[in-house]
Amino acid sequence: MKKLLIGTNNKGKLKEIRDLLPKSIKTFSTSKLKIKSPRENGKTFKENSLIKSKYFSKKTGLICLADDSGLEIDILKKRPGIYSARWGGRNSDFNKAIKKVYKELSKKDKNWKLKKIKARFVCALSLSYLNKKIACVSGVIEGTISHKPKGNNGFGYDPIFIPIKKKKTFGEMTPSKKYRIDHRYNAFKKIKKFL
Ligand code: IMP
Repeated sequence: MKKLLIGTNNKGKLKEIRDLLPKSIKTFSTSKLKIKSPRENGKTFKENSLIKSKYFSKKTGLICLADDSGLEIDILKKRPGIYSARWGGRNSDFNKAIKKVYKELSKKDKNWKLKKIKARFVCALSLSYLNKKIACVSGVIEGTISHKPKGNNGFGYDPIFIPIKKKKTFGEMTPSKKYRIDHRYNAFKKIKKFL
């Protein structure tokens, strides 16, 4: 594969996906091409990633790699899940999304800070050409929710997620450390043979 469209308008994801791809592939991004994202009306991460990769591929005629991802918190019945971006409101304000996580946790259990709040990041990646699926895979990273946001690296819920067997949040880790263990990396390992 020589050319590939990265189907995301999220800067954090774009940076990370570019870092994972071999340098021999020339990449294009939907944000640079100014193509707005489609409505995500799937019920799962995989369905939504396929909606995006097919939509962007049809718009451009390029093979497209798209990501749909989010944070699942067990005691919130896996919310925000596929609604992770939407918890940040219209302007994808991650501080707002994080506040909502803490509010929902307090509503569920006012002593939540005394407990280990199990969570995971999930990432579905799909590769499509026009309306045809080439591949669709998913990857996860298990972890817990930090009692307060920590670190300024990354994006989204990174400051409140502590990956399993680590003490730091993703927000406190250098991008290169995070990129080698996270949900996107775990999904990427499964899809790279199709590139
Ligand atoms: P999507 O564009 O609908 O897939 O939105 C995914 C949302 O999940 C993002 O906007 C973030 O809020 C969150 N998310 C996904 N992956 C990550 C990550 O690696 N770090 C932090 N937040 C993430």
